[in-house]
Amino acid sequence: MAAFVHDALGLYLSIPFCRSKCTYCNFASGVYPASEHARYVDRLIEDMQATGARAERMNIALPRRVDTVYLGGGTPSLLAPELLQRLFVAMRSHFHLDPDAEITVECAPGQLADETLATLAASGVNRVSLGVQSFIDREAASSGRLHSRAVVLHDIQRLRAAGIANLNLDLIAGLPGQTFASWQESLAVLAGSGVLHASVYMLEVDQDSRLGREMLAHGARYHADLVPSDDAIAQMYSMAIEALRQAGLEQYEISNFCRPGFHSRHNLRYWQRRPYLGLGLDASSMLRDAPGPDFRTWEESVLRSTTTDDLKAYLAGAEPVETTWLTPARQHEEAWFLGLRLNAGVDVAAMEREFGPAIVAPALKVVDRLAEAGLLTSDGKTVRLTAQGQLLSNDVFQEFLGLKAGLAGFKG
Ligand code: SF4
Repeated sequence: MAAFVHDALGLYLSIPFCRSKCTYCNFASGVYPASEHARYVDRLIEDMQATGARAERMNIALPRRVDTVYLGGGTPSLLAPELLQRLFVAMRSHFHLDPDAEITVECAPGQLADETLATLAASGVNRVSLGVQSFIDREAASSGRLHSRAVVLHDIQRLRAAGIANLNLDLIAGLPGQTFASWQESLAVLAGSGVLHASVYMLEVDQDSRLGREMLAHGARYHADLVPSDDAIAQMYSMAIEALRQAGLEQYEISNFCRPGFHSRHNLRYWQRRPYLGLGLDASSMLRDAPGPDFRTWEESVLRSTTTDDLKAYLAGAEPVETTWLTPARQHEEAWFLGLRLNAGVDVAAMEREFGPAIVAPALKVVDRLAEAGLLTSDGKTVRLTAQGQLLSNDVFQEFLGLKAGLAGFKG
């Protein structure tokens, strides 16, 4: 297999604290007393300190150079300025942050105090992601968001004035009460804001959010009865691709759009399978093993680990709960379903160089079948999702699982 370059790392810190819990949220986040914040930051710093020794014990290549940082959650901007400062100081003492590292922090509109904003800017934060979800106030409110359109637009101005111009706005297609007209309006306001990046997600229905559970149970407390149909949500997603393209924000990943050159460098790591270290509640890491003494017999492996999503256990010092070395076959599957998320698609020759033609061959049969079904395109060199494939991406990705065992079998 081709060896990867272990030159730089992406660092993800999970900050699981929110002021209130949004009805659609399925992340490991919650409303916890501020007294937990300081202990949590201590715990993150302990993890930063311990990571080098742990990597050595496990023979993991852990680059010290970091070129992307992402504070997500949760609402990292809820941390007090001195706690944020401590995190950035610790980060810089345990890792070598590139001078031009992309440093992103997720913020909730209306919850960014002046002092916090000044601390973020002074700490080198150069990218902020705002969880807007809708520019229609009643839609935002009925999902549990605490902001209005005016507040978001004001925060955008404040961030720019503080020197943070690289902004992402998140929107969700499928919120309760959303209509084609209101969705178009949200898209238009986003386009008018001139931001450099946008993420558009389709509402997820699962047991992990209050709204998802209610939809499955056909309740109405969180307005599940007002959620648009699957077909309407799919249409809203297609509307977003077109509206954002017209506004100069080109789609580069199933859910992500940007002006030229303003991709999320950190998130690209996930889809391109480049190493990242995740610390904190429910954070995951992807690291590669260090080359052994006999390079010829060294087979590169990938280690994935995930921490607990139980705050108490994490604060008590729990080590990663799931640690798995991925086999080449498993890495190959991931390479397909992560690579296909990108509009650039999967480069078949690169795949064959990395895994060998014998491992890739069964996947190419799946590609042919899905191309016939109109879900993929392939010119023999690059494989991409079609527009229909993007809408049914989870079904497409399933087809690349269990290839070795011959389990794939999409019926069209
Ligand atoms: S702010 Fe984000 S993480 Fe927090 S509850 Fe809402 S969606 Fe979830």
